[in-house]
Amino acid sequence: MNTFVAQAPGRINLIGEHTDYNLGFSMPIALEERTTVRFSPDGSDRITLRSNEKGGGISFALTARPGDVDGWSAYPAGVVWALAGSGHPVVGGTMEVSSGVPIGAGLSSSAALECAVLLAMNAATDTNLDRIDVARIAQRGENDFVGAPTGLMDQLASLHGEVDRALLIDFDDSSVRPVVFDPAANGLALLVVNSNAAHQHSTGEYASRRESCTRAAHALGLGSLRRAQGVEGVLDRIEDEVDRRRARHILTENQRVLDCAAAMSAGDFRRVGDLMIRSHASMRDDFEITTPHIDLIAESLVEHGALGARMTGGGFGGCVISVVPVADVSAVSDAVTRDIADGGFPAPTVFTARAGAGASVK
Ligand code: ADP
Ligand code: MG
Repeated sequence: MNTFVAQAPGRINLIGEHTDYNLGFSMPIALEERTTVRFSPDGSDRITLRSNEKGGGISFALTARPGDVDGWSAYPAGVVWALAGSGHPVVGGTMEVSSGVPIGAGLSSSAALECAVLLAMNAATDTNLDRIDVARIAQRGENDFVGAPTGLMDQLASLHGEVDRALLIDFDDSSVRPVVFDPAANGLALLVVNSNAAHQHSTGEYASRRESCTRAAHALGLGSLRRAQGVEGVLDRIEDEVDRRRARHILTENQRVLDCAAAMSAGDFRRVGDLMIRSHASMRDDFEITTPHIDLIAESLVEHGALGARMTGGGFGGCVISVVPVADVSAVSDAVTRDIADGGFPAPTVFTARAGAGASVK
């Protein structure tokens, strides 16, 4: 029988954190690093998995339901469940997964895996879906089967990625607009510092931030904080001090995303850097999703010559991104690595990244 091969990239969110479930804006890039799934249907009613990262020999029934499967196979099983639940065909076979996306680093190895599995299955069953449907089905698998309450950004970024383009996403209508993102043309590099810190407590903290945003919107009599965007004096009407700061992060972050898209289009990376610094401060002070370890990395990057730096991803660990002159990349990397060691934190992994192409079937 045939083998169907699909690949999907991880992503870095350049700016716009926790805005997706508030129907706001964010601006990710797809990474060059990607996950590949080779799917060989065999006429059975099970999927058997093997991963270069996690080993093999695991299998699940096509009829598996939430709670039936755990560990990493819940991601492929969730996709199969969500596909079937949406009325699309699914078939049994073996899936070989190989990936260059760091796992659990906030670079969305999860969406890369989901999208690659979904596209490989669709190729095998000759099913053609719009990217938005693919994104929503993959998200449903992650939310309702794996049990991770994540927004739609990761899947949209993985599916829509373009070389040297960032993706301005408006979650109000799920539209995606490519924006030129080519730091190299300006003598700059996107430098990523993976803190290698485990995301402790991140699920509970994520849920509590989400609840704060929902409460803030309700306090304003609105269905979503998006409806408060640009409304004069709106924050003063939120009585609860904590919820008010959470909402202030969302509203100011949305504006920073739009400003950043304009600055990138104009090739104004000083302004991009400045917006990154402000975004980090907002995540640290208003949304309170950074950690001393992450703050140290962001401060050290700027101190040693980055135009700007900010944590990317849901928070409490993961990666810090920065824009650094190409000529300074190795000096900045060394200086940050030293500062992290002096702070008593685990050694980081430092690398440069570029905006890469989106998911595809080979
Ligand atoms: P992130 O998406 O930031 O990398 P998540 O916790 O959302 O972190 O997803 C990571 C999980 O996704 C892993 O723990 C594993 O269960 C699954 N996963 C991702 N990529 C792979 C892979 N190549 N092989 C096996 N499992 C993977
Ligand atoms: Mg993830």
